[in-house]
Amino acid sequence: MRRMLGIVLALVPLLAVVPGGAAAQEQAQRGGGLRHLAPGAPADYTEQVPVNVVFVGYDRDDVDAEAFLADLPQTTVPVNRQPSAYAPEPLGIRYTYDYDLTYAGRRYEDRFFAELAGLAVPETLTAYQALYNDQEGNVLDVAGNHHIDAPTVERWLAENPPRGVDTAENTLYFINWYGRDDFRHHVYTKLGEPDPDTGTDFGLRDSRKLIAWGGTTPDDEESGLGRLARVWFYDLSAGPESFTDNWNVDDADLDGDGEADYRMPPIWEYTEGGYRDPAELTPDLAKVARYVGVNLLFTSSPLYRVDLDAPDLPESINLDTNTYEGLPGTDASEAYIDPDLFVSEIAELRPLNRFDYDHQDLPLDGDVRRCLALFYEDEPCFPELEGYPAAYGNLYLPNALLAEVLLDGESSADYELPNINYAVSDEEFPPPFLGLADDDYRTGTQSFTYNFVSPGLVEAGYGLTTTLIHEDGHHLGLSHPMDGYDSETGVDYGPSGPFYFAWSGTESNSMMSYVDLNWDFSQFDRDNSNRFLAEAYAKNANRVLALIQAAGGDDARTNLALRVADARVGLSEREFAAHRYDRAAANAERAYRTVAAAAERLGVPVERAVDPLAIDAGAVDAEAAAAKIPYALDAVDFALRKRLAP
Ligand SMILES: [Zn+2]
Repeated sequence: MRRMLGIVLALVPLLAVVPGGAAAQEQAQRGGGLRHLAPGAPADYTEQVPVNVVFVGYDRDDVDAEAFLADLPQTTVPVNRQPSAYAPEPLGIRYTYDYDLTYAGRRYEDRFFAELAGLAVPETLTAYQALYNDQEGNVLDVAGNHHIDAPTVERWLAENPPRGVDTAENTLYFINWYGRDDFRHHVYTKLGEPDPDTGTDFGLRDSRKLIAWGGTTPDDEESGLGRLARVWFYDLSAGPESFTDNWNVDDADLDGDGEADYRMPPIWEYTEGGYRDPAELTPDLAKVARYVGVNLLFTSSPLYRVDLDAPDLPESINLDTNTYEGLPGTDASEAYIDPDLFVSEIAELRPLNRFDYDHQDLPLDGDVRRCLALFYEDEPCFPELEGYPAAYGNLYLPNALLAEVLLDGESSADYELPNINYAVSDEEFPPPFLGLADDDYRTGTQSFTYNFVSPGLVEAGYGLTTTLIHEDGHHLGLSHPMDGYDSETGVDYGPSGPFYFAWSGTESNSMMSYVDLNWDFSQFDRDNSNRFLAEAYAKNANRVLALIQAAGGDDARTNLALRVADARVGLSEREFAAHRYDRAAANAERAYRTVAAAAERLGVPVERAVDPLAIDAGAVDAEAAAAKIPYALDAVDFALRKRLAP
């Protein structure tokens, strides 16, 4: 009886806060009893997202809880980022947050730091620690470095949280070892998952020595997290290191764009006469929590719409891969693509879709070669097609002209994801980036991915497989863990200028990072992708419903199907609110398929609204196309230089 009462009481506030209750009721009367589906309407998902913040080695005097919480977002409405460059496109998702701050006690800290000390292996300084020691303004010299295995620490924190913290919920650990008697200078490492094409273990490089890590999934065979957890830890007493460049305490501008770059220095620099005033520690950690943890890891915004061919969403997807073989004597596609790994990693991101792969080699000649050469001159290769920008248009247009050859129809899949690989010589066509996930220049719909391989890139450790997984991750909607959208301010940001510290997000177990230490998608990627998919299926069920109603479909069988679909969307909304994102997506998908089947039975055509490979210069939005989000699309020189760092 007591339990029953608890459930009833819990339901009352839930019902009271359902948005638009009266409108929904009215809808229910008009729509033949439908409570969740509404023709043409946006989806309507809400979630109060649990976010645990655990301070280990920081006391209440170091980090002020009230000031820290005041800097965190209260609500987020994610957007489709690249489409929003053309016209604002919020998702039908509204997050609020349930923040829970924990300051670990002395006993917990003793246990954790004893664990770190036990894992620490003495090592020489990294190049970046040595660079720090060479700075004019450094307050100490790092001496006696140690390596600590990052996945082991992540697993320990996942399995041994302080009392009251559930690490199946998003959990951000802020760690500070400095100042304790058992402190040793350290960096975190991840080794043993070499590039599948070149065998290069990027983890051996100094540039891949870390101050943060997390996001591992339970089914990651290499890292082996034993249970579902959503942990990311950030340790300013580690390093200093390469990705956030926090070894540099002398120069304001780090990436050469003439703008001061905001970085979080090592913890010992938060001192009188140090790089940063100690009073800035609370707002600095709050920035990391907000602009990395909340916005990029826990509740990110998609780069592209996840509803491919909307409103005619595919069940099966063909990874339609094409390689322009421009290296005499080398079969690059044979040497540098591992199709099994490629397909299996992509399939993990979208268990509701079936994937297959096919490939064809093509000569690097004709317009494709001519346009690639003009890419470097920043000259349009089809000047008559005004509006298409010279640089990226030179990759898009020749391929769009060849679309019928590239999309070979080999597979019976519903959707062909066009991957274009350029195998080139470094002298003639120096790769401007590893890969890029392009859009259509008209609506912000994803079009091709372009992926480069050259002897120089192979020498640097890269084949095509990991670039293909990454760029297809973008094509299927995902953003990087180091750039994204802040909903309350409306700012889309990359790791530069005031947000330079967002580079720390790349230190996570995600194929969408630049860290090159793993090849699968993080738990955060999967959570977010499932949420986006739930939203997209529900929204497109509404679109197809509008088509059915416009066609006058109102028979008993249709109405029954719609009521079944309606209940599925309701279930999806409840699973979403309960943080069961895979089930939220699966139920919304079944709702969509039910509505789509009703349309098919009625003979109501459901066709994609946009063909992203159709050339239409008159429809190009030149301003928006020029304002593509370069850091999100991998089109920044500096990003490649950072990845190639030794
Ligand atoms: Zn990328």
